[in-house]
Amino acid sequence: MITFNNISRSFIGDEVETVAIDKMSLTIKKGEFLSVLGPSGCGKSTLLNVLGMLDSIDQGEFKFQTHQVETSSEKQRAQLRKNNIGFIFQSFNLIDELTVEQNIELPLYYHKVAKDERKRLVDQVLQRVDITHRRKHLPAKLSGGQQQRVAIARAIVTKPALILADEPTGNLDSKNSVQVMELLQQLNKAGSTIVMVTHAPEHVHYGTRVLELLDGKIVKDEHIASFTDISEVACG
Ligand code: ADP
Ligand code: MG
Repeated sequence: MITFNNISRSFIGDEVETVAIDKMSLTIKKGEFLSVLGPSGCGKSTLLNVLGMLDSIDQGEFKFQTHQVETSSEKQRAQLRKNNIGFIFQSFNLIDELTVEQNIELPLYYHKVAKDERKRLVDQVLQRVDITHRRKHLPAKLSGGQQQRVAIARAIVTKPALILADEPTGNLDSKNSVQVMELLQQLNKAGSTIVMVTHAPEHVHYGTRVLELLDGKIVKDEHIASFTDISEVACG
């Protein structure tokens, strides 16, 4: 699904250059669930932002599905992002003034989905994340775990090829964290490709692969035994 070939991304601030991603090469296959670990400042969020085409790269080759991602083309990235990526953030990023169902419906407006179809899709994901009983509530009336489930529903309602999650359990207690991780695992088992940044090594077993970053480089890349690569099995 994704190929990174020698990708670099730096930031210039106060005459100091920070290399957030340092000549990184990486291949992500459809159906994988990657957990990205590493100390603060090692480039985890930058990697996610580049994968999600929120941020551009300075150097290297980035292929997404059949597309060669053009660094210079903000328009191409916006289009690819809209059609293929679902984001989940640590702080949920729901719109306070909109109800649960309105928050979830929002991306469908941007996709110009007709009203009946919007309702059908919203009903479907409300059930998927088990929050139908709270559909008319404002986010502030929900627990953190419920808010994150709404954010997940909003991320998946357009059926994106790739789900990106930046510390999705960072603001949750352990019980709600487990619920969110189990939900992400179910989505992965149903076919979603997921890349998740996490501060919690105890959560990596929900995924299929672990990346560890240090100073913008991959220092560890391990597959978790339970993951079966269907494409390789099919090829014998
Ligand atoms: P992590 O998510 O692993 O904590 P980040 O990807 O956010 O790390 O940041 C990696 C490095 O790049 C850090 O040194 C950070 O200060 C720097 N950085 C990230 N984004 C920016 C930015 N927009 N402007 C300047 N420096 C940045
Ligand atoms: Mg970060």
